[in-house]
Amino acid sequence: MRLAGAGSGAGQLGALLLTHLHSDHITDLGDVITTRWVMGFPALPLTVVGPVGTKAVVDATIASLGADISYRIAHHEDIVDPPAVGVVEVAEGLAWEAGGVRVTAAPSDHRPVAPTLAYRVEHDGRAVIIAGDTVPCATLDELAVGADLLVHTVIREDLIAPIPVQRLRDICDYHSSVEQAAQTAQKAGVRTLVLTHCVPAVVPGEEDAWRGLAAAHFDGTIEVPRDLDVVKLP
Ligand SMILES: [Zn+2]
Ligand SMILES: [Zn+2]
Repeated sequence: MRLAGAGSGAGQLGALLLTHLHSDHITDLGDVITTRWVMGFPALPLTVVGPVGTKAVVDATIASLGADISYRIAHHEDIVDPPAVGVVEVAEGLAWEAGGVRVTAAPSDHRPVAPTLAYRVEHDGRAVIIAGDTVPCATLDELAVGADLLVHTVIREDLIAPIPVQRLRDICDYHSSVEQAAQTAQKAGVRTLVLTHCVPAVVPGEEDAWRGLAAAHFDGTIEVPRDLDVVKLP
């Protein structure tokens, strides 16, 4: 839905990159597969890049859509095949390349969720890092060196850790706090840090509090965007 809101439908995707197989990162996969399939004239195959285990999730997602797939094939004369989805499972190194865009992957650390990936997307001399869900780790540090922009999942440990419910506190032990993400950005020498996947959700007007926690550890620009905001590289 956000992709469509940003003006790029499922049909325009070059590839879909998954950092890991947690539900909050993959439950829209069926919509992307279906939309690309039924709105393509003809439908283009979709490439899904992800960690080992991605193929099983894609196969199961397509299997779960079996009834829908049969209805659409029965209904539309020009749809005769089920969705075509190619899966590229990567551990590290080159993950995808096309049209001057190069994506490399490195393992992140989101244990017990494993394997998980961070991505470096490079184009025209610029580099953007998608850290995904991770605690600080040397492989992410190395991947992010000298990048223009680091998009990093963050947790407000100062707000979550005091809650006397262990299941909520558990969130902290496999995500980076705002401070840790800022330290990763500083160590790598990136120009801009974008906080995303914020837990708890950022209350409108509280962005400066989030920014302040990061600014204590990072000298660059800090963005706390809302959905569909655009961050331009300088
Ligand atoms: Zn996760
Ligand atoms: Zn997540």
